[in-house]
Amino acid sequence: MNKAYKHKVGIPRAMSYYNNYPFYLGFFNSLGIEVVLSDKTTTKIINEGSKYVVSDTCLPVKVYVGHVVNLLDKGCEYIFVPSIQSTDYKINNCSKIRGLPEIIRNVINREFTMVEPTLDKTENIGLYDFCFETAEAFGITDKKEIKNAMKHGFAVYNNFFKMAQSGLSYKEALENAINDRFVTQTVDVIKPLSVVIMGHGYNLFDERISLNIIKKLENMDVKVYTSLNVSHEDSINAIENLGEIQYWANELELTGTAAYFLNNHKVDGIIALSAFGCGPDSLMVDEISYHCKENGMPLIHLTIDEHTGEAGFITRLEAFVDMLMRKKRALISKKSKPVSQNAEIVTPEKEKIFASSVK
Ligand code: SF4
Repeated sequence: MNKAYKHKVGIPRAMSYYNNYPFYLGFFNSLGIEVVLSDKTTTKIINEGSKYVVSDTCLPVKVYVGHVVNLLDKGCEYIFVPSIQSTDYKINNCSKIRGLPEIIRNVINREFTMVEPTLDKTENIGLYDFCFETAEAFGITDKKEIKNAMKHGFAVYNNFFKMAQSGLSYKEALENAINDRFVTQTVDVIKPLSVVIMGHGYNLFDERISLNIIKKLENMDVKVYTSLNVSHEDSINAIENLGEIQYWANELELTGTAAYFLNNHKVDGIIALSAFGCGPDSLMVDEISYHCKENGMPLIHLTIDEHTGEAGFITRLEAFVDMLMRKKRALISKKSKPVSQNAEIVTPEKEKIFASSVK
């Protein structure tokens, strides 16, 4: 252990890691607690996690269990498994996220200390209580020290979020934030097509779970937006503008993000990425599909589980992108004046450049 640290905690690289890691890191480090992460998700981690739970458990939970096992194999004695019940009054998480500590306790029969704070704003258990409970597990109860650690957590998190909002990828923003750097993207990248992916951070930004969907789309010359490009307030307003109400805690990542881009017409299509068998996601995707139909916005729903094959996944993505391109070409032809016989021949490359200017 690094000399400056008095304790060590393992954080599974899954679930809330993808939304909150910058905060967790700043918070723990400020309290003198070193953070050990599980390895990046691999097929081995998924298979390991799958062994412990019933087969119809959703993929992210199987992955989470696999990451806890990975941390135990690394010798971690303390593992952080938060129970995030509700993030606002009556804005709830699904039962699996709420019950993560219970799941882990019941399926993994190995010696370790689970640090399992609760966040439940419906029951008036807020972020300070959550942080206090976390610190207390390490014998730290000084309120001033805990509040100061929260400030550090927010500082790292805010830097991360600002960088991501400026256009940096999730990976770049995270890498900079945890290394105490602040870099923003000042030039907006223009591509022939743009899409938004509605999906949980733990599905979308885990390159193994998402089969690296963002990179695949970028390789097809498509600009990709995610929930990181939408502020909290804009997501909430967008849901209200659709005449819907927020119920799920992570709904801003899905309904809110899709609704925001549906309202501002900044994208050519919407991709819904969800885990097979996820109840909340199917409700949210149904809701957005309805509004997409009403607004003529193309939407594709991709579901993933541990058996999803890469080839079929790419084929569906390519077909969707092709369809968006054809739709855009048709729109361009409609808007274009009739061309004379001497008109310049439009090469595919020029067409792409032109397409990017038609929004
Ligand atoms: S929201 Fe869906 S994917 Fe996430 S843990 Fe719950 S059931 Fe699984």
